[in-house]
Amino acid sequence: MPARHLYIHVPFCARRCSYCDFSIAVRAETPVDEYLGALRSEIALASHGGQLGELQTVYVGGGTPSRLGGEGIARLIELVREHTVIAPGAEVTIEANPDDVTPSNAEVWARAGVNRVSVGVQSFNDAVLAWMHRTHDSRQPARAVEALRGVGINNYSLDVIFALPAHLQRDLRADLTQLLALEPAHVSIYGLTVESHTPLAHWAMRGDSVEGSEETYEEDFLLAHEQVTAAGFEHYEVSNFALPGKRSRHNSTYWTGQPYAALGPAAHSYDGTFRRWNVRGYAQWIRNLAEGKPAHEAEDQLTAENRVSEEVYLGLRTTQGLMASAAELERAQPWIAAGWARADSTKLILTPTGWLRLDSLAADLAALRSAQANETLRNERSRCYI
Ligand code: SF4
Repeated sequence: MPARHLYIHVPFCARRCSYCDFSIAVRAETPVDEYLGALRSEIALASHGGQLGELQTVYVGGGTPSRLGGEGIARLIELVREHTVIAPGAEVTIEANPDDVTPSNAEVWARAGVNRVSVGVQSFNDAVLAWMHRTHDSRQPARAVEALRGVGINNYSLDVIFALPAHLQRDLRADLTQLLALEPAHVSIYGLTVESHTPLAHWAMRGDSVEGSEETYEEDFLLAHEQVTAAGFEHYEVSNFALPGKRSRHNSTYWTGQPYAALGPAAHSYDGTFRRWNVRGYAQWIRNLAEGKPAHEAEDQLTAENRVSEEVYLGLRTTQGLMASAAELERAQPWIAAGWARADSTKLILTPTGWLRLDSLAADLAALRSAQANETLRNERSRCYI
């Protein structure tokens, strides 16, 4: 089935942030022509293969898509339009670093059809930003927002990181106050984790304190929940808050299991049956496409068990909740008693304290659901022999 949602990965960053293990290509100068040339080949293959339908959402993520500049993003969107239709009213998002959101770039993006920008703010503390290896300073998010509003892009999301090590003396409440003063339509929060092969992992190996304690993680997450919801936002997914009507339509497709196409190095797609992923390295991606080969590296068909786990995990991530059987609601009674979940008719919905335990609660429920499915299958088989 042709996808109605498209993700495009732009791998370029000016430098690697201390916590980042994403698939990126660090470049002082962004090779815009080379990247767009390869993207043209990949999108042509996807389009001829019938993978692209009329698009309801386009999400340009990374990396740092804003490193393509004004014209680079405009050319990228034009490429998409050359190969498929972007539906009227579609959500077209790009991720941007604050230092790239200049009035001139914003104007070109808006003219090209970008109507939503996700800005990586992370903190308003310059010492913290320097520790994270971010390229922007504490004053640039306000300028970025002014540039976006100046061209009529009022649908912007601001990202912030929490659970930082104590020695940084980060004041999350103060950061969130400044963030909310910029009047975003959407806020995303991410807890700092130490991934292997990152500068943080290296610093940890030499004995530095590089992440907040478990208590800090929990306190920060709940503080963000209280402060951001008090400002009128709905905490609609573990990491995401939105004003009414401003949920991320693109990311919601991931959480509801809808198919999506994906282009660019390391991009992952899902057609409803198979998950496919592209080669991770930028140079390999360029080579494959230059040689007329597909960009994808491998694919995986979800097993019945994978599907159950995913269904449960995704259902519990959002306030949409998970349709639950009587046995599942029964299993969840202790969670409800502990304040980790609530039952709404036949739906089970986690609370913020439940989201802090999402992995273990989802694993428990997925095991029950798989066992029930196997039992049903066994009963059906035994009926066949009667
Ligand atoms: S800007 Fe984003 S993608 Fe690039 S290094 Fe930093 S965290 Fe990673």
